[in-house]
Amino acid sequence: LIWNISLQARIDAALSNGEIYLAYQPKIMVQTGEIVGAESLVRWEDPVKGHIPPDYFIRQCETAGRMSQLTRFVLEEACKAGNAFEAEGLHLPIAVNISATLLHERSIVTMVSDVLDKTGFDPRRLTLEITETFRISNLDLAAEILGELKALGTKISMDDFGVGAASLEALLRLPFSELKIDRMFIAPMTNDPKALGIVKSVLQMGKDLRIIVVAEGVEDAGTLTLLRDSGCVVAQGFAISRPVTFDKILEYHRDSEKPPKEGMV
Ligand code: C2E
Ligand code: CA
Ligand code: CA
Repeated sequence: LIWNISLQARIDAALSNGEIYLAYQPKIMVQTGEIVGAESLVRWEDPVKGHIPPDYFIRQCETAGRMSQLTRFVLEEACKAGNAFEAEGLHLPIAVNISATLLHERSIVTMVSDVLDKTGFDPRRLTLEITETFRISNLDLAAEILGELKALGTKISMDDFGVGAASLEALLRLPFSELKIDRMFIAPMTNDPKALGIVKSVLQMGKDLRIIVVAEGVEDAGTLTLLRDSGCVVAQGFAISRPVTFDKILEYHRDSEKPPKEGMV
């Protein structure tokens, strides 16, 4: 309890002194390995306790009423990184996680719009991944807010699809252009026919709805092959790359651009 309270008290300082920063995880084209996006994932490296898991400190941010501050920081850093990738010749869509609890108020629209203005990042390259959709209490209001965010030019993605209640209702009523199948279904798909069946139907559903389906939590080559054979287009996971620094993303891009070595099959 004392640790939580001290953590909550240090959020603002950690946001300004570099203890809180972003890692990036590539999203790749399953067929070619080409990098087609990067998800920003927030990190907190405490000088005493070391790495604090995001799931954990995000809860503390919420309790301390600091979710907006954290989200603004992440949005700004991610857009700046997007511009810096562009300066290196990599026109990369960047994804930012947005907690569904922020869809209870219109201020998120102003926040995103301000950050886009301030950084000059192209909104068409910003994807907002909505996490914890089951926590949306008013779908009508959330639909309006997401509509306004979409009107700014951003893409809206539904994170952790399949987990928690009301996922299909949210999918029906909210303007998503991407959905991410949760790793709960991806991880066991090579040895659990039920998981495979669910993944395949979600992939088919994505085609019918004309939205991109991203498989997340791809941990081994076998799963990646099975996804490719099942018609999955975009994937993300440790088998491809762990969340890494800005520089490593550039390296990944340069490596995947190299022509295959002669004689390689
Ligand atoms: P998420 O949005 O589902 O992000 C993916 C999480 O899965 C990341 O954990 C990532 O490191 C992990 N992951 C990626 N590939 C694999 C894999 O192959 N196997 C396994 N086992 N895990 C994999 P991370 O970074 O610990 O983030 C956890 C959650 O914290 C995120 O889940 C997201 O919901 C939340 N989060 C992270 N950054 C932010 C943020 O800036 N804002 C908000 N609101 N939430 C964030
Ligand atoms: Ca996410
Ligand atoms: Ca997820």
